[in-house]
Amino acid sequence: MIDHARPNAASPGGRLIVLTGPTAVGKGTVEAELRRRHPQVWVSVSATTRRPRPGEVNGTNYWFMNDEEFAEKERAGEFLETAVVHNMAHYGTPLQPVLEHLRAGVPTILEIDLQGAHRVKQKAPAMGLDVVYVFIAPPSYDELVRRLIGRGTENEEQRRKRLDTAKIELASEDEFDVTIVNTTVPQAADDLWAVIAREYGLH
Ligand code: 5GP
Repeated sequence: MIDHARPNAASPGGRLIVLTGPTAVGKGTVEAELRRRHPQVWVSVSATTRRPRPGEVNGTNYWFMNDEEFAEKERAGEFLETAVVHNMAHYGTPLQPVLEHLRAGVPTILEIDLQGAHRVKQKAPAMGLDVVYVFIAPPSYDELVRRLIGRGTENEEQRRKRLDTAKIELASEDEFDVTIVNTTVPQAADDLWAVIAREYGLH
């Protein structure tokens, strides 16, 4: 783990954890392992216009909605940030639940793409949000391609788009406070917990 995070100066409830990493790096698996071990962690449920994958549940994995519903919520200012990801679908973080969990002192994670992390970076100071930016990296680019092909949820065209985005995201690692290399899920979950425990004063 490479950790450049500055000491926690302000935020009484602890800092918002923004987690970013390329497609198929295993963010979801690491988060699931983290929450299995530490159920007190809350991961924000994003809104998206993409179709649910088999097994995905509305309100658990995402809030699935159509373009009109998404646009309406965006106009109403209900999102902390939004982005079009992989040139395919809209994604957005509902603002109110994030603020409520932070105010209650609950360790709060956003799992969002690089564009979303940039938007949060622009907006956070004016909103009084204290944020730590965490990048989940693969052990290598080749391993990332293997994981993407291995999970088998995308066709060739979708994989190509995701790998295009991944190259941009991998080049942005230096912008983040902390880098966690996801070599194994238990180790990456340990590293992520170490960041949260420090930011929220937990043990
Ligand atoms: P997937 O479609 O595989 O679930 O997610 C695709 C990408 O969208 C991932 O990189 C994920 O981090 C990102 N993503 C998920 N929710 C949000 C969100 O609310 N905002 C942004 N900006 N990206 C998101």
